[in-house]
Amino acid sequence: MKIKDYQVLVLGTPWRNLTYIIIELEDGTFGYGEARMLGKTQTLVTYFADVRRHIVGHDVHDIEALYRRFTLLDYACPGEVVMTGLAMVEMACWDCIGKLANRPVYQLIGGKVRDKVPAYANGWYTGDRTPESFAACAKKVQAKGYRGLKFDPFGSGDFELTREEFNKSIAIIEAVHAAVGDTMGLHIEMHGRFAPHQAIQIAKAIEHIQPVWIEEPCRPTDLGAITKVAQHTSLPIATGERLYNSHQFRDLFPLRCVDIVQPDLTQCGGLLETKKIAATAETYNLMVAPHNVGGIISTVAMLHLMVTLRNGKILEHFNDFSDEFVKKAGSPYPEVIDGYFQLPTGPGWGVTLDLDFIRRHPPQTANGVILDPGLNMFANTAWNKRSQHLNK
Ligand SMILES: [Mg+2]
Repeated sequence: MKIKDYQVLVLGTPWRNLTYIIIELEDGTFGYGEARMLGKTQTLVTYFADVRRHIVGHDVHDIEALYRRFTLLDYACPGEVVMTGLAMVEMACWDCIGKLANRPVYQLIGGKVRDKVPAYANGWYTGDRTPESFAACAKKVQAKGYRGLKFDPFGSGDFELTREEFNKSIAIIEAVHAAVGDTMGLHIEMHGRFAPHQAIQIAKAIEHIQPVWIEEPCRPTDLGAITKVAQHTSLPIATGERLYNSHQFRDLFPLRCVDIVQPDLTQCGGLLETKKIAATAETYNLMVAPHNVGGIISTVAMLHLMVTLRNGKILEHFNDFSDEFVKKAGSPYPEVIDGYFQLPTGPGWGVTLDLDFIRRHPPQTANGVILDPGLNMFANTAWNKRSQHLNK
């Protein structure tokens, strides 16, 4: 069954643009893909005009050939833009393949090993950057049934923190821990901020709390720096959201410097490529916790992946606490209940996009170019508010 046409739509929020692709087959079947690309939404939308020859007229079932067209046949070295564009098309193809087979996608990639997927909350800390405010916000996460939460308390820290900022950051972590107790898993996000010695000092200061992991302690492509941190802490280390292809993960695995890998399905080539990365991770006894900062399609695609993974750990979720309106971009939304995602049923992803809703919430533009406000988390100490006041 050949792909007849496609369209691209962007849903805007104060800090993230969610880009959707809707592909249409010759028989009228529709499939959906989605990604959030910080700072380059206009580039991504334009890229889809560039690669029309790789999409229209090709058989939707030929996933490996799709990957080959986007990567090898265009030569150069695929990076964030190419691997994200490819991932979005690939996701939409899987949605169509499932619908044509009248099967949920997970049944076509190995079948499920679990019925529900544990979730952790992100984007919940949108008050002031104080221990008291973070503790109060964390209690709301707990009240909603989550048993895991993630946060970056480090302000705009870069390489090193001042003594004052170090103490404040540790105080925020300790306040959250005191507020929610040991039954809530704390995931400490470092956003690749630190020089190894600083990350090690922070890790030692919070080891008594036993967080689930520390994430991206150093710049994510400096595997030597991450290795040094791993040699000096007992805390599990997670990384991988900014690795865009299997070759970068290949270089990471044999160093055994991380315990959890976080591929972002929407940015590293799609569902099948992420499944391959996860399968290789399993051979190194590593867990997989996909990075998920998207809306309904990103979330359901990762759920379909996660139920098939023997080494799947937990899935990230923003949309209960940040830009909640993005849930209305499609239905049924895969809600988190008692700390677990419920997997949609039905063929393909099992959800339908509301294209009119997306069109009614366009991104900001200037001179016809899509703006990406982003978070500026290395310059703005209040980035944790994620501009949520603009949603009011
Ligand atoms: Mg992260």
